[in-house]
Amino acid sequence: MEKKIIKKSSLSNKEPSKDISKDDIKNKIPLVASKNLKKVKISKDIIFGSNQVPIIAGPNGVESFELMVKVAKQLKKNKIKIIRGHAYKPLTFPYRSKMYKESKSSGMDIMDEIKKEFSLKVVTEVTEIRYLGRITKTADILQIGSRNMQNLELLKEVSNTKFPIILKRHFGASLRDFLGAAEHILVNGNQNLILCERGVSMPHTHRSTSRFALDIQAIPALKEITKFPIISDPSHASFWAPWVPSLTFASISAGCDGLIIEMHPNPKKSAVDPLQPLNFKQFKALIKKSRQISKVFNRKIV
Ligand code: PEP
Ligand code: MN
Repeated sequence: MEKKIIKKSSLSNKEPSKDISKDDIKNKIPLVASKNLKKVKISKDIIFGSNQVPIIAGPNGVESFELMVKVAKQLKKNKIKIIRGHAYKPLTFPYRSKMYKESKSSGMDIMDEIKKEFSLKVVTEVTEIRYLGRITKTADILQIGSRNMQNLELLKEVSNTKFPIILKRHFGASLRDFLGAAEHILVNGNQNLILCERGVSMPHTHRSTSRFALDIQAIPALKEITKFPIISDPSHASFWAPWVPSLTFASISAGCDGLIIEMHPNPKKSAVDPLQPLNFKQFKALIKKSRQISKVFNRKIV
């Protein structure tokens, strides 16, 4: 039988993260692949890309003022500094339950009050350019959701605000495509970039409640290529609250630079994705253990 000979040259052009070649790094993603460590400073005591692991937590949507007050109080109790909640939200299917309306500018008004009353930083999603004006009045970090990862016009406009940006990886995107989208943000002159792994679609060998699987190896793989902070979202990845703690601890161990955790005072009543948020007791336990695990890696949950 004839032996196949693999040409050395075809392998030598590849970085360890396999689908990204040296040519890509030089010519397609030179900014995102810059060798300088990139820190994204939100305030003097919240820095992504440092020894800190900042936690971003809150419900899926800004459903009401009362909900956000309860969540904010819980964050304060656990010494967590960044609240999340979307007032604008894309959904997988076009139908919305009666419980769930996008709160839009009134949701942003709620976030504004919460921010002032509790001195928390705010993360919220930008779905369309036309909402940017209102969102930037209140938000501290702008999130580009998975479904908009390659919405290039949106990336450009959001980049132009110079706000810190969380770019979530689309659940079907290769790391090459993800980093290509990130380069679109950087090329517009905004260096405040945070990359987020949030689960990928794969053959569904898990139970049907698992829509996605957290691509844990994306964290070290991305770190081979980029020095921008990489955060992990175990809530959207697993879509299933009981798995969120394990995936959180695994993400910390894999070297993530921050986490997005969905939490709600009464998850069953959450207007969207009720299987996913942690309740307050579970959240407290998660933070406690995350603090212990982070110490092993000389890092600190904030
Ligand atoms: C979210 O953060 O609420 C969200 C919908 O995330 P993703 O875009 O990753 O699905
Ligand atoms: Mn969500």
